[in-house]
Amino acid sequence: MDTRIIDGVALAGRIRSALHDRATRLATRAVPPGLAVIIVGDNSASRAYVRHKVRACADVGVRSLLVELPGETTEADLLATIAGFNADAGIHGVLVQLPLPKHVSTGTVLRAVSPDKDVDGFHPLNVGLLVTGGTGFVPCTPAGVMAILDAEGVNPWGLHAVVVGQSSIVGKPVAHLLLQKGATVTICHSKTQDLGTHTRRADILVAAAGRANLISREMVKSGVVVIDVGINRRADGKLVGDCDFAGLVGVASHLTPVPGGVGPMTITMLLANTILAAERAAESGSRVA
Ligand code: NAP
Repeated sequence: MDTRIIDGVALAGRIRSALHDRATRLATRAVPPGLAVIIVGDNSASRAYVRHKVRACADVGVRSLLVELPGETTEADLLATIAGFNADAGIHGVLVQLPLPKHVSTGTVLRAVSPDKDVDGFHPLNVGLLVTGGTGFVPCTPAGVMAILDAEGVNPWGLHAVVVGQSSIVGKPVAHLLLQKGATVTICHSKTQDLGTHTRRADILVAAAGRANLISREMVKSGVVVIDVGINRRADGKLVGDCDFAGLVGVASHLTPVPGGVGPMTITMLLANTILAAERAAESGSRVA
């Protein structure tokens, strides 16, 4: 079987070009989209990641504001910073980079972000809207997975989707999105026995466990669509996904590489959510006027 290797960089580029047009239209309506990114502490990976987000904002015409707070910032001070952005009409998205220092409650902080500006989709209201099929903000990586399937013309309706991983930021939301699109969904996790019996039944397989080489050629059926969300650094420094990429070529019908598959889509969906938040703000402003 020919395996189509999905180019996440090219897809992200096409989507960002359309987002740039939407941001330009908002700017002409005097609502230039704005994103506040808050980072606490000096986790070097998190800092690199937020710099990446800020650069991506500039590319599509989203104004970004990076707030770098010291690791000893109190929860009260962080909540006050979030409250300031919640009240700022020029800011449409508020993102608090995780992980937070241990003395700060992640749940309290995520609940403090206004659901209307929760472009990460982590507020319990948006989580609830996702589960009930409402129109809240969808977390960025799961949204990126769905955008890839859509762009590839893969309609989950009636298919069996298997999601490996049940985290709140990837596995569970992607499973709900697949369910909404008509798939029959199996969610696997670290306690799942004989993972291969489940993955071999997948028409669509989303691997999001964070375990290199978890999914081998013997664990999938011919023609499966494989979306590899995992990012793992090998001892030699190379980044790999959760799937044995070389082993799946020739078996899968579609396959995302790591890097260059889901990764570029995640930040693109953050930009999309921020522009959507600004469009909603512009819409409610024009209704009030
Ligand atoms: P996480 O919170 O650590 O969750 C991992 C999930 O995988 C858990 O549900 C865990 O099960 C399950 N799991 C672990 N080992 C397993 C095994 N041997 N068999 C079956 N399931 C297993 O990780 P995450 O935040 O969801 O991220 C998952 C991966 O995606 C990571 O590699 C991360 O770096 C990557 N990621 C990539 C992007 C991107 O933009 N491409 C974005 C986010 C995350 P239990 O619940 O039972 O522990």
